[in-house]
Amino acid sequence: MAFERALRCRECGREYPLNPIYSCEFCFGPLEVAYDYDGIRQAVSRDAIAAGPSTLWRYAHFLPCDPQFKVDIGTGYTPLIRADRLAKAVGLDTLWLKNDTVNPSWSFKDRVVSVAIARAREFGFEAMACASTGNLANAVAAHSAAAGMDCYVFIPNDLEQGKVVGSAIYRPTLVMVEGSYDDVNRLCTELSMEYPWAFVNINVRPYYAEGSRTLGFEVAEQLGWRTPDHVVAPMASGSLFTKIWKGFQEFHKVGLIDEPRTRMSGAQAAGCSPIATAYEAGTLNFIPQKPRTIARSLAIGNPADGYYALKQMQETHGGAAMATDEEIVEGIKLLAETEGVFAETAGGVTVACLRKLVESGFIRRDEETVAFITGAGLKTVEAVVDAVDQPLRVPARTDEFAAALSARRGAPVGASAGA
Ligand SMILES: *Cc1c(COP(=O)(O)O)cnc(C)c1O
Ligand SMILES: [Zn+2]
Repeated sequence: MAFERALRCRECGREYPLNPIYSCEFCFGPLEVAYDYDGIRQAVSRDAIAAGPSTLWRYAHFLPCDPQFKVDIGTGYTPLIRADRLAKAVGLDTLWLKNDTVNPSWSFKDRVVSVAIARAREFGFEAMACASTGNLANAVAAHSAAAGMDCYVFIPNDLEQGKVVGSAIYRPTLVMVEGSYDDVNRLCTELSMEYPWAFVNINVRPYYAEGSRTLGFEVAEQLGWRTPDHVVAPMASGSLFTKIWKGFQEFHKVGLIDEPRTRMSGAQAAGCSPIATAYEAGTLNFIPQKPRTIARSLAIGNPADGYYALKQMQETHGGAAMATDEEIVEGIKLLAETEGVFAETAGGVTVACLRKLVESGFIRRDEETVAFITGAGLKTVEAVVDAVDQPLRVPARTDEFAAALSARRGAPVGASAGA
């Protein structure tokens, strides 16, 4: 049973059939999937969802694709972790981490790609493609490999090795473009008119973007069918940030949860902060930036959903913050040292911004907060390699070890002095 009904222009409301198109012919506004929520309401229940698979396919009734075309390598239904030690460090009573580092290609992008590739196969596309800041390339290459489809991924030429190899290993045609992500995106938009490929974030973007709602669904279900007081999530194009909120609202619309009152706050790197800068200036119209940040996964200078992200902050009484490169590294370390979760730079941005929002009093201590950790740390080892302690190097002798340990601690530490 499919409940996706049409594509609808987010600006003028005109509707279009469910085709691989992404912008309105009349006003050039972005298209979004419209659903038959009455149908979904009748088809779903808390119990039926809870009895579903331990992947995002437990929400199949909400996804704009036929699950018979799915490529299931285990994406989604990731842990929601109670983070008491980090809560204490930043000054909150209750904090949860949505740990999306554990997806099949180690970022939340597996969610959007799961939906995009299912829909692309339903459309009859034989090749997948994308413009990527790195994680999307990994996810598209992995899912295409599992589907046995041709794959073309386009990335900027300044990416971390973990993300380059993390795509190449699945053997796509990997194209490194001389320029920034915004250049890559412009090139791919042109290519999408000439090649018969499903560019996940261009011609099938309306379907792709819907995959991020599953993060909102999961958090609501994992909290016991309710939403938190506050969310902090990273923003690149702003899509993820807006779809978490959409997921909360839809769960309410179909009767699964009470009306969400969550305040939604976004996190950006200071070196690429068009949305957070506009928020601070009190405007809904951001000014594009040229990215200069170690958070490459968030380095989109001209964010497609920036306006909607800003509007959502206004509507939910949320806000935004930005983190310098130094603060990003501190954020990665704080998260790892307090909670045992090793995040990539986007996670550092989220933790650093969470800390600032609490410190300034914008998030009150008693607001139950969920922070979204969207990518794994081994992808961006470069960011922290000089910021971690060097190992103790010792010959294989107990006395040498004891001497090295004492030297590191700055005081004698012996086997007898210890325990
Ligand atoms: C892509 C990405 C995001 C956010 O992307 P949006 O374009 O805002 O949806 C966040 N974190 C990581 C790790 C990403 O790769
Ligand atoms: Zn329109």
